Amino acid sequence: MRLLLLAPPGAGKGTQGERLAAWSGARHIAAGDLLRAEARAGGPLGREIAACQARGDLVPDQVVLDVLIPAVVEAAAAGGYILDGFPRTLPQAIAAAELGARLGVTLRAAVYLHAPEEVLTQRLLDRAGEGGRADDTAGVIRHRLRVYAETTGPLVPYYEERGILIAVDADQPPDSVTADIQAGLSGL
Ligand code: AMP
Repeated sequence: MRLLLLAPPGAGKGTQGERLAAWSGARHIAAGDLLRAEARAGGPLGREIAACQARGDLVPDQVVLDVLIPAVVEAAAAGGYILDGFPRTLPQAIAAAELGARLGVTLRAAVYLHAPEEVLTQRLLDRAGEGGRADDTAGVIRHRLRVYAETTGPLVPYYEERGILIAVDADQPPDSVTADIQAGLSGL
């Protein structure tokens, strides 16, 4: 299985990524988690990543590629990947497609999880209330949703044009979202 999850913050990428990995045996690669680990490791690069994440801005493409590509190559060799939060920009998508073509491990599907903005905001605020992440504050959430709409949203038509987009309503219980993704994959 080789797929990516394309979704705004709060749509349930992490939950669905874990479920799809358990179901398919492919490796779940969460871009935000890998970047947070890199940030914790410190150093100038770690500090740059931490600052971007705290503001809700995207980490520069080259940094993301340097951190993510080795993990994707390793997962592809081990049987597949579920990309959660990568790519998030057009240059990242193009770099990932070139790499996939070169290694013969191109994407099978891009799963687009969508939900109304009020639902996403409320879920993120609930997560903050449960002692969630430092970037789950009202102001940063608003900014992350704006960054998603402006920079990551254009990847929806990009994958649609390539005939691999599966759009799924994420404003449903997690089991129903998983079932819809599985149904979409079998119909591709
Ligand atoms: P996430 O855990 O997916 O919500 O990502 C948390 C934060 O990590 C984002 O707000 C960005 O700062 C950074 N990030 C994660 N994935 C990417 C990516 N593909 N490109 C740039 N920045 C990213």
